[in-house]
Amino acid sequence: MWRATVLTIFPEMFPGPLGLSLAGKANAAGLWSLDTIDIRDHAGDKHRSVDDTPAGGGPGMVMKADVLARAIDAAAADDARPRLLMSPRGRPLDQAKITSLVQAAGVVIVCGRFEGVDERVIEGRGLEEVSIGDYVLSGGEIAALVVLDACVRLIPGVMGEAGSSVEESFAEGLLEYPHYTRPQTFEGRPIPEILLSGDHAKVAAWRRAQAESMTRARRPDLWETYAARRVHKKTTEG
Ligand code: SAH
Repeated sequence: MWRATVLTIFPEMFPGPLGLSLAGKANAAGLWSLDTIDIRDHAGDKHRSVDDTPAGGGPGMVMKADVLARAIDAAAADDARPRLLMSPRGRPLDQAKITSLVQAAGVVIVCGRFEGVDERVIEGRGLEEVSIGDYVLSGGEIAALVVLDACVRLIPGVMGEAGSSVEESFAEGLLEYPHYTRPQTFEGRPIPEILLSGDHAKVAAWRRAQAESMTRARRPDLWETYAARRVHKKTTEG
């Protein structure tokens, strides 16, 4: 079973949306598990404090290294699972990272709050900082839900149709082709004729061309990597 452990001062935010739909069903079926650790349970004073004022001054509060380290040790001391810290300073999350996390035994995720966490616990407990994008959230919990949602749907047996994760956006470095379903004409817009032709090879070629032009127009960064890899493939194969 793929095991997720989340460290947070708001354990009541979990499983949240992951208790519903695909992820919720897969959890009930025992395909993955989720434990939350309340960081406050590891505080050392009667006020259960988890934060303190920043050394050097400045606004806000900082999560204490000693409290967080105790919480991590209680949750995952001799544990080979990757340990993530959700952080806007981290490496931006992508589908390749999600795929590698799913191949591990599970994941331990620390959710920051306030201004962030004391640098020494990041170093001392080997936390890998991961960002979900260039914007600032008020805490790491929603970011952790994003990571877990993206992972859980890739666990074998979770998604209905096995093929659907192979063809979707980013699987090959391209955005996905456009989708259509009935009615055949919607507000005067017909479904592209080729999709109704029954010619699977032509449909596949059309979809690839659409995916390529969409990626080129919307995500020049992805397109550059894809195009370079394609040239490389041609030269090494040819
Ligand atoms: N002062 C920090 C922001 C702290 S936001 C800075 O300027 O970098 C509080 C917490 O929310 C962070 O510790 C982190 O756990 C979480 N968080 C905020 N934005 C995030 C993002 N883009 N990706 C992942 N986690 C984020």
